[in-house]
Amino acid sequence: MRNIKLSVLLGLIIGITAMMSCGDGDGVVLFTIEDDKALGLQVSEQIASDTSFTILSETEYPEAYAYLQGMTNQILNSGEIVHKDDFAWKIHIIHDDVLNAFATPGGYIYVYTGLIKYLDKADDLAGVMGHELAHADRRHSVKAMQREYGIQLLLSIALGEDASQLAQIAAQIAGTGATLAFSRDAEAEADDYSVEYLANTEYACNGAYTFFKKLIEADATGSTPTFFSTHPDPKDRVEDINAKADEVGCDKSAIDESSASFDYVDFQNSLPE
Ligand SMILES: [Zn+2]
Repeated sequence: MRNIKLSVLLGLIIGITAMMSCGDGDGVVLFTIEDDKALGLQVSEQIASDTSFTILSETEYPEAYAYLQGMTNQILNSGEIVHKDDFAWKIHIIHDDVLNAFATPGGYIYVYTGLIKYLDKADDLAGVMGHELAHADRRHSVKAMQREYGIQLLLSIALGEDASQLAQIAAQIAGTGATLAFSRDAEAEADDYSVEYLANTEYACNGAYTFFKKLIEADATGSTPTFFSTHPDPKDRVEDINAKADEVGCDKSAIDESSASFDYVDFQNSLPE
């Protein structure tokens, strides 16, 4: 009898501990995967209808989109993306001289021509893509929004019932409005996952490192990249990316595009000024 009581108590303690640990410090997600997809679709339609975002058309820039899709597919096929088959994983290139990229819940990924042209090589951009895919796949933006808006309001926004809030959310995610700051934990986790994703691709697994290093140099010259408004405290994290790569033991050498008919420089040159 005593043993039964003890084991029930023990089971209860284990259960409570499991419940407490599943929020990984960011709060437990109450939104479902379907809600992520619905909210992402709403935000992507909002961005498409907002004339302040000039999205390059896939039919006008087929080679550029094919190149970026190929890069994204390598990451999606890394075996590390939990919601690979759930989310949209739709990429868009925005024509603007902005050093940024962002992801909505549900996997709508946006990359600015300014960032593509600014980076030196494919691995740097792959590092950014890994970081952004991680924010969507690990559901960081949903957790941040849930904290800010509350579950009820966020659900009504996902259903498209509040257009003004939707515009605000799109601006927050894109970093053009009041920022939706990710937690330090979320940023560090996105960096770690970028390394783990790229470890299973042809790209240098620490691509995010060279990306951050270059952005920090730009910041030092006074032109603060938009990326920093949505991704705070980069300086502390740069060395962590290399440490993670050493821990994983992955390949830090750059992708060999010498035999590719369309390489990173061709990709950059195919985009409008
Ligand atoms: Zn981030």
